[in-house]
Amino acid sequence: MSPQKSKRVTRQRQLVYECVIDSKDHPSANEVFTELQTSGIGLATVYRQLSNMVDEGILKSFEHSGQIRYDPLVTPHAHFVCTVCDKIWDVDLPESILLTTPNVSNVDIEGLELTWKGICESCK
Ligand SMILES: [Zn+2]
Ligand SMILES: [Zn+2]
Repeated sequence: MSPQKSKRVTRQRQLVYECVIDSKDHPSANEVFTELQTSGIGLATVYRQLSNMVDEGILKSFEHSGQIRYDPLVTPHAHFVCTVCDKIWDVDLPESILLTTPNVSNVDIEGLELTWKGICESCK
């Protein structure tokens, strides 16, 4: 990669990462793309940067309502999802759950996803 090109990629990566952090709502690739539209970053680049960062463990991804959402908080945590506005909040995992081992044998555990659903303050 030429120095010029690698500089551009670094800048794009930075913008995509900051967008995920700033959104505070676990955005999808499409939402990141829309947010960064004025910077001229294409949707394919947004997808590539997001998936690279997930591979590197800088971001986490999970599926919500049929869409992949991106999460800058990579430590174990739970989510609260509002069933009206679809906003997603980060919630602490109850410590008791972290100490639980699932009742299945011969599996490799890769993680735990816990989501509470309900109606948020502004939708009540
Ligand atoms: Zn709501
Ligand atoms: Zn989260």
